[in-house]
This record gives sequence, structure tokens and C-alpha cells, in this order.
Amino acid sequence: MPNINKLNLSDDPLPLDLKVMPQGLGSRPQTPQPGIYQFRLPEMPAIENCFDVMETEDSQILVAVFADDHMLFNETLGRFYQGRVNNRFREITQTNRETSEKETVLISDYGMMLKALKAEPARISNRYLAAALVECAGKSFIAEHTLTASCQKTREIFQKGQRVTGKMGCGKQYAVEAWKGQKSERHQIPVEADGKVALRFECACGAELRSWGQLQGFRSA
Ligand SMILES: [Zn+2]
Repeated sequence: MPNINKLNLSDDPLPLDLKVMPQGLGSRPQTPQPGIYQFRLPEMPAIENCFDVMETEDSQILVAVFADDHMLFNETLGRFYQGRVNNRFREITQTNRETSEKETVLISDYGMMLKALKAEPARISNRYLAAALVECAGKSFIAEHTLTASCQKTREIFQKGQRVTGKMGCGKQYAVEAWKGQKSERHQIPVEADGKVALRFECACGAELRSWGQLQGFRSA
């Protein structure tokens, strides 16, 4: 191999721009085991590509889709992370610190992610919430990555990697830890011999399922 000084390297400008080149393109990140990790948002301009909406009858739900050239970077593990964080509302009951009274509060995963990033959108609308995330490009937050799986009644199941025509899923839902409420139930995702939570496993009905990552417990880095 020639030495760098003996190659007579050309100094003609080349049309490449490292600033706009994506990071992590082509890598297919493995879903990590459940845990608390520090994540970094994509840089500009890639972060501008991470938005989608779910249209319902009466509203538009904003979703941050971290994939392709706009994945999150899991700083704890030093590798990219694919995920979705949506702005679907849900109600929780919490105790007001000043009055000690119970009150109902509307929350969303997207909102809690913005709060962890210390974003301060000027208005609470999808347009402003999206712009607020773009302003946080390259910033980090901490979140818990957990796994869920579901055997969907509306989809034909897979067995041995093949779709089974006409056989639908049984509706069972799975989480890292099992729980049972009044209206719903989560079964435990199986743990493999090495102690790891299974990323692929078989449902009681025989369907082959995949565990998907989900972020929760957002807090500031
Ligand atoms: Zn099933």
C-alpha cells in the first residue's frame, strides 16, 4: 500500500457534503433488552423527516417515527434505535401537590418526551409540537425501553415463517411483566434460557409473534 504522502492525492473539490449525509443508513439495529437508556434525537436536517400522522374521525394524531436516516441513537449501548412516539392522549389521576386533591390530567407519550427535552412550544398544536421537536435536534433524553407483543385478531397468523391463510390471531397481548386489570390482561413474554426476554416467540395459539419496542418513563438527561 502506498503511503499517504506518496500518492499525489488530488485536491480537486468533490461534490460530497458530510453535513447533510445521514448517519446509520443501512444499519438494521437489533431491538435491545428492556431497560433504561439514554437516547439522542436525530440531527438537522434528518429530524425533519421523522413525522407522520394518524388520522381518526375527528382528529389528527402526531407521531414521531424514528427510522431509516432519522433513528434515535441509543447512547447507552452505542447503537441506533428504531421507534415511534405518538401524541395519543390518555387520562391519569394524580394528586395535586398544592391542594393534595386528586385531579385528572391528560398526558401523551410525545408530550412527555418534549417535556424531558425541556422543549417549550409556543402553542399546543400539532404544527407547533412538531416544530418544537425539530428545535431539539441532537439533544438527549432518558427513557425506559420495554417490549410488547400482540396476537392480532384482525390479521392472519404466521407459522414457520409462512402466513396461514384464513387463520386469525387469538387476541392475546403480551408485555415484559404480566398483569391483569378489569378490562384487559397482559401475558408475560417468554424468557429464553439465557435470561433474555424473547424477541420472537410462539403464542399459545401457535402464532409466531415478534416483540416490539416501546418507550415510556421519559425524563431529562
Ligand atoms: Zn395467539
